[in-house]
Amino acid sequence: MIISITGTPGTGKTTIASALREKGEQVIDLNHHIEEKGLKERFDKKRDTYNVDVDKLNASLRSCIPEENNVFLEGHLSHFLDCDIIVVIRCNPSVLYERLKKRNYAPQKILENVQAEALDVILCESAENNAHVFEMDNTSCTPEQAVSMIYDMIRGEKERYLPGSVNWSEEMIKWC
Ligand code: ADP
Ligand code: MG
Repeated sequence: MIISITGTPGTGKTTIASALREKGEQVIDLNHHIEEKGLKERFDKKRDTYNVDVDKLNASLRSCIPEENNVFLEGHLSHFLDCDIIVVIRCNPSVLYERLKKRNYAPQKILENVQAEALDVILCESAENNAHVFEMDNTSCTPEQAVSMIYDMIRGEKERYLPGSVNWSEEMIKWC
């Protein structure tokens, strides 16, 4: 199976990817793969990021993905790719704000990402893929707990992780 680990920047994807590798899983770091294979296209000034052609990325990944065993694709574009399961990593928007501030992101970029997290943007984008979509609140999980939750999803224990299980609307009301 191909399992995509996606989420708003700062939600904890790379931390979880390291924990998965420690368990012996094959995890492809999409940012690294895109860089290595020269798949960065035009720089999008407004979004402060490079555009990537998803078809070219899918084609280039095919040769890296084994027929057997599970492989994890980690990155904030992974939910656009051919895969069987999408795991959307979520984080409380107020906590995310602090994490992105620590990363020295520009205020506008922090705001865009925190808003995107609060409004389920990546979860909604994931619904366009034919894969099974799950989400998990990673705000206060250890990496080991997060890995164990992902294994639950792969085993088919899905109820706790179905879209809608994470809801930041209460959090947003506090901002009013
Ligand atoms: P992403 O890859 O989604 O951008 P990272 O894994 O790089 O996110 O995590 C962003 C920051 O948040 C890092 O400083 C990381 O140490 C911290 N972090 C990640 N997951 C957690 C967690 N569950 N609890 C507390 N801090 C976390
Ligand atoms: Mg990362």
